[in-house]
Amino acid sequence: MIKESTRESVDKLVRAQRKYFRSGVTRSYDFRMKALNNLLKLIRNNEAKILHALKKDLNKSEAEAYTTEIGFLLEEIRHTQKHLKKWMEPKKVKTAKTHIGSKGYTIAEPYGVTLIIAPWNYPFQLQLAPLIGAIAAGNTAILKPSELTPLTSKLLDELIKEYYHPDFIAVVEGGIETNQILLDQPLDYIFFTGSVPVGKIVMEAASKRLIPITLELGGKSPCIVDETADLKLAAKRIAFGKFTNAGQTCIAPDYMYLHKNIRQPFIDTFKEVIKEFYGENPLRNEEFGKIVNDRHFNRLKSYLSEGEILSGGKYDESSEKIEPTLLAPHDTSSPVMSDEIFGPIFPVMEYENINEVIDFVVERPKPLALYLFTTNKEIEEKVVNNISFGGGSINDTLMHIATPYLPFGGVGESGIGSYHGESSFVAFSHNKSVLNQTNKFDFSFRYPNAKHGLKIIKKLMK
Ligand code: NAD
Repeated sequence: MIKESTRESVDKLVRAQRKYFRSGVTRSYDFRMKALNNLLKLIRNNEAKILHALKKDLNKSEAEAYTTEIGFLLEEIRHTQKHLKKWMEPKKVKTAKTHIGSKGYTIAEPYGVTLIIAPWNYPFQLQLAPLIGAIAAGNTAILKPSELTPLTSKLLDELIKEYYHPDFIAVVEGGIETNQILLDQPLDYIFFTGSVPVGKIVMEAASKRLIPITLELGGKSPCIVDETADLKLAAKRIAFGKFTNAGQTCIAPDYMYLHKNIRQPFIDTFKEVIKEFYGENPLRNEEFGKIVNDRHFNRLKSYLSEGEILSGGKYDESSEKIEPTLLAPHDTSSPVMSDEIFGPIFPVMEYENINEVIDFVVERPKPLALYLFTTNKEIEEKVVNNISFGGGSINDTLMHIATPYLPFGGVGESGIGSYHGESSFVAFSHNKSVLNQTNKFDFSFRYPNAKHGLKIIKKLMK
């Protein structure tokens, strides 16, 4: 059990970070680069400890933990270091006709003291990926890991203490109470990753002080398989996206829509792929993830009675594992079709015309991700242009999150703002506009005593 942090300790930390930020040291390019180098060292020197904590908290296999938590961060840091100088440069902008003689530019200015709240499903990566942006943009940061992955939370606290001064970066451990204390603080920016209901709490708290926020939330991400899809490849890529981390991925395909002409062959192929990936008995497979805790295990178990099981469906109470399961839901308004599943249970539905799928999706909250498997360009354009979603992949799953060149974030109920690569730098910076006016001449037409002033203004501003 993780102990809650006290209000006194949090107040003191925020004051200390504010003082440190005001000293100006976090702003220089050299300081930011060194702090990013430090993060590289923190990760590289402690790989074994990180893998151990993730194994204990979530039964993550080494391959999965390295790819989705460690390797991901190393790539993101290297990309940031490579481009940081350019991102930090003031950007010149054009001058309007009314402003002749002046120069305009924008500066990416750090917000100040930032708070980064992380969930439990990728507890290391989702805590440190936003931190890369916070450091790159010249902020200080308070990190609040999830209490549901206590070993990773403790390890983050130890490592951050070892590699950074707390006036610059510090971990505050705890649960809901600690978060409430943190959200009461006069922060300059909040970056929250987690569920939609808690996202609303964070936004409400931020609104009291008008603190700018990014909300990285979740929801139900559809996966559509068209009759022109490459079925074997689609099955592999969808199974990978759905069952990585036992389905506990914010952008995991949540439910699947299959074209009626390929429904049965696709299901047969998909079952074969599950066997190829996880063997005859996935519950015994050491590489297959566990459900994070009892509450989520029981929630997922209850979905199993909400449809006809097409494959899988078994579970093991002692290891808190659930088999990769395909389920034909009885009713589209049941919890399995209205809650975010966040587990290895996969509802399968059938369609005949793509418009049915588009109508189904757009009548519900805007998804964080959308996946479409097709080789038909028209269908691709129709889906991409008619459904609003945070981001997605055509003929793949999850991979749009893994490139620093694509901003990652939701829209509507799936989130506000985006990050990764330059977008992280932008997220943690205020884009300050400056107009530098010339003293060499002065247009007097704007002054109240100007002769024909309005006539000239009307010519310039039309
Ligand atoms: P959560 O919202 O329950 O918790 C996230 C954080 O909020 C934790 O640090 C927790 O301590 C804190 N928290 C929980 N209840 C709170 C409350 N009442 N008041 C204040 N703080 C509170 O989310 P979770 O269960 O840890 O993570 C799963 C959710 O996160 C899923 O919905 C998933 O889709 C989403 N998610 C989104 C992304 C993304 O990048 N968009 C990534 C991972 C997870």
